[in-house]
Amino acid sequence: MPSTKRPWIVPVGPLLRVPGSRRQERVRTPLAGTAGSASEIPEGEDVAADLVLESLNGGALVAAGTVDAPWAGECVRCLGLARGRLHVAVRELFETASDNEETYPLDGDQIDLEPLVRDAVLLELPLAPLCADDCQGLCPVCGVNRNQTSCTCAAEARDPRWSALDELRAAEGGKASKD
Ligand SMILES: [Zn+2]
Repeated sequence: MPSTKRPWIVPVGPLLRVPGSRRQERVRTPLAGTAGSASEIPEGEDVAADLVLESLNGGALVAAGTVDAPWAGECVRCLGLARGRLHVAVRELFETASDNEETYPLDGDQIDLEPLVRDAVLLELPLAPLCADDCQGLCPVCGVNRNQTSCTCAAEARDPRWSALDELRAAEGGKASKD
């Protein structure tokens, strides 16, 4: 059953009435449909925003803190599942009649944190996900996953000029040992 609840919308009326006052705001809920070109927030998994909201003179408000989110994607080296967590520092301004792209709208006595959280996450989602920093990837010749098994393709596929050099070295080595 679809929920009409909007967990990212938070009331800020009391804050705005006392400029300079602040409040801690923690929201932890899934953020559906957040995907970059190579990774995304897994469906149904929680994203957490831990923010301090502070009102300014003139009816604006600053939200500063961190956004935490899980991500998943396809490892660019081995094509296996890559997963990780984002931890993004944010500091953004909310204002009424927000007409520039640098700020978020302040709508009466509430703000919607979702665009802020979504923007922060989209900027940080990995463009080249790795399952592990030392992933060995797939062999470009035979295609085996080198994290799981090994192959001899790398040795066989060496540039023939190197084997010519090897022979030269072997010959020189032979000469040297004779002296
Ligand atoms: Zn991998």
